[in-house]
Amino acid sequence: MINFGGYMGKLLRVNLTTRNVKEENLNEEWIKQYLGGRGIASKILIDELEPGIDPLGPKNKLIFITGPLTGTVIPTTSKIGISTKSPLTNHIGCGFGGGYFGPQLKFSGYDGIIIEGKAEKPVYIWINEGKAEIKEAAHLWGKDTQETEDLIKKELKDKNVEIVCIGQAGENKVRFAAAIHGKHFIIGRRGIGAVMGSKNLKAVAVRGTKSVSVAINTEKIWKLYDEILKIMNKNPVVAGFKLHGTAASVALVNELGFMPTKNFQEGVFDGMDKVDEQAYFNLSIKPFSCWGCPVYCRRILEMKDGSYAGTITARPEHQTTFALGSCVGLSDTGAVLKANLLCDEYGLDTISTGVVIAFSMECYQRGLIKESDTGGLSLKWGDGEVINQLIKMIAFREGFGDILAEGSKRAAAKIGKGSEKYAMQVKGLEIPGYDPRGAKGIGLNYATATRGADHNDGWTIAEELYNDKVDRLTLEGKGKLTKEIQDKAKTIDSAIFCMFALDFGYTPEFISKSLTAITGIRITPEKIFEIGERISNLERIFALREGFSGKDDILPERFIKEELPFGSSKGEKVDLKRLLGDYYKVRDWDKNGYPTKEKLKRLKLGEYIKYIDKWMNDN
Ligand code: SF4
Repeated sequence: MINFGGYMGKLLRVNLTTRNVKEENLNEEWIKQYLGGRGIASKILIDELEPGIDPLGPKNKLIFITGPLTGTVIPTTSKIGISTKSPLTNHIGCGFGGGYFGPQLKFSGYDGIIIEGKAEKPVYIWINEGKAEIKEAAHLWGKDTQETEDLIKKELKDKNVEIVCIGQAGENKVRFAAAIHGKHFIIGRRGIGAVMGSKNLKAVAVRGTKSVSVAINTEKIWKLYDEILKIMNKNPVVAGFKLHGTAASVALVNELGFMPTKNFQEGVFDGMDKVDEQAYFNLSIKPFSCWGCPVYCRRILEMKDGSYAGTITARPEHQTTFALGSCVGLSDTGAVLKANLLCDEYGLDTISTGVVIAFSMECYQRGLIKESDTGGLSLKWGDGEVINQLIKMIAFREGFGDILAEGSKRAAAKIGKGSEKYAMQVKGLEIPGYDPRGAKGIGLNYATATRGADHNDGWTIAEELYNDKVDRLTLEGKGKLTKEIQDKAKTIDSAIFCMFALDFGYTPEFISKSLTAITGIRITPEKIFEIGERISNLERIFALREGFSGKDDILPERFIKEELPFGSSKGEKVDLKRLLGDYYKVRDWDKNGYPTKEKLKRLKLGEYIKYIDKWMNDN
């Protein structure tokens, strides 16, 4: 029994090698130190994984995790987190996806699932009202994510079962394969789908009818709910999201000259009007939302005419529009929708897919690869048919697709000839859709984020674009800004709120009030940030333990040496050395990028000082 509201108090541990399934109590001390979600998953990974293990080997673990707010009426709290050691980065590889799976896992009686080992043959895990079984999945292997979802629901004779599954990309261990839930919710980055594939795990299905008990009475909960709705209804960002989702920022970033174009060679895409929020607007056939969220920021689109008529897919987000649009020079609405659909069906992360294709196109542009290397394909910018052909080749690891399926960093190492400098990645993770030369805080975040170049690890863009007091191009104050947003993101991922909650007007005071009300633990705004900072430092230790150091806090040399050639950010470069110096100081890390021992002690992470000592001795 757990003494706090919001938690079911139990984790399920499933060993696929031994087929042993057991329940464990959720540790109360972890709740106080890490809240839930990402924090608890990172704690389990650092404590249970041996340093240096192969992420695609049986020693890696997958943790499906919820937060204390999951399954409660607090809006935007329905996401599921999945954490593992990433086969793309060798860092913590957690990702979050919206939808219905998280609440359903709580309703089945668990805060999370720890999956270990490797099944001999394809399987899926079925958790029904607290009872778990491992079921054979040979008949599902080879199916895409949409067919898999339909077949499992049919087999279990329950359309309310919620499923996370992989497509062919995960089965083929593409290093940036995603896990997909409910056909359109993507747990996208860092190769979580490949880790599922490496374990012969096709899917996890859950169903339950338990309720989440909370620390205050129903009347007070609904009062809190009304308070949040009032905040959200007044917020202009929510209004924009309802209409356009994250695609709302595509045109603005292009106008400001830092929309990555043709593999980050330029910052303005001439064909943006074919793939921006307005281009998508009239194609909408149905809105949809995550569990209990009133925002409905998602849409199903249908291409009505042209060569891609009949393509039905979720509206591409800002990041997909960049990766499968401007980054590969593609300005054909139908071809972008088709590319998005293929990625969702095969189970591929759209950012890494688009950026690794853009890398290959720049290699082709510069003569580093030829048709003889690509199986006869001419990798010309903006060729929709070739792009969609490459997506299939990546998912099935066919021919040249097998090289790209390794991600930009490893693909560049295979291609050689100096191609490394055109691989737009940090720590192996492909860079998202904001050129750091046009927003310096996001560049610092890419260089230092514990998950590799991840915009959600420290989305400074909200401040750099929409706060009049923050100049996106200056270096001043970006260390503090980036550190604070990175720590907030960890708390948001641990509570678990939707990442957009901070933009919807959820203040730290409000987050603290919600957490205190639900859990019954007094969690002040200061405490919230302390928890976030603890998780940032814990994950940094995970990276140091894997052999990384401050030397790996880098950006591709293009951003340091080449100026943006035209547009509103013309002439901009990134002075990363200066940004890092500022950041390490604010973080209380030494000049080599290690947390100081005093810092770790203050954050109650003293037990991990041994890894700093070991690193110092070994180097
Ligand atoms: S704002 Fe959008 S992504 Fe976030 S919880 Fe609501 S529907 Fe899901």
